[in-house]
Amino acid sequence: MITYLGLGSNLGSDKSHNLRQAIHLINEQAGHVLACSSFIESIPWGFVSDNTFLNAVITIDTPHTPHKLLDITQSIEREMGRTHKTINQDYTDRIIDIDILLYGNSCINDSRLTIPHPYLLKRHFVYAPLLEIAPDIIYPTTGTPLATLIEK
Ligand code: AMP
Repeated sequence: MITYLGLGSNLGSDKSHNLRQAIHLINEQAGHVLACSSFIESIPWGFVSDNTFLNAVITIDTPHTPHKLLDITQSIEREMGRTHKTINQDYTDRIIDIDILLYGNSCINDSRLTIPHPYLLKRHFVYAPLLEIAPDIIYPTTGTPLATLIEK
């Protein structure tokens, strides 16, 4: 299934290396990486930190179900040294964050997964790199081009 993943890193001496390592592990474990956006810098969203983020979006072709894919991406986060996702429900610095943005045309909303990812339409550092590698992509829940939704 063609799937779009959002990556972010705001820790470590080389955030670009963190993103490249995550992409390497995703290619080995989650599915063939077909495309990768530019790496863009963003300020932390939802929490205060001096560490800026480096973000990217990649396209993969995965044989896995969405929940199995989440198991794999969470395992890669742990493998790369991410020990916790949140502290007291707050966002915090992270060496790597991997979000499933879109999984084919699927819409999923359960206790573990919300797809399309809820922040896809809201955060520039998510939709801008996504539109860079998939300018004509259709947003599943509305059936309209993502680019048109963002313009609005
Ligand atoms: P975060 O701290 O932002 O990485 O959030 C991780 C949590 O979000 C995990 O417990 C996931 O089960 C949940 N989650 C819900 N939807 C998604 C998604 N589309 N991609 C990744 N994690 C998701």
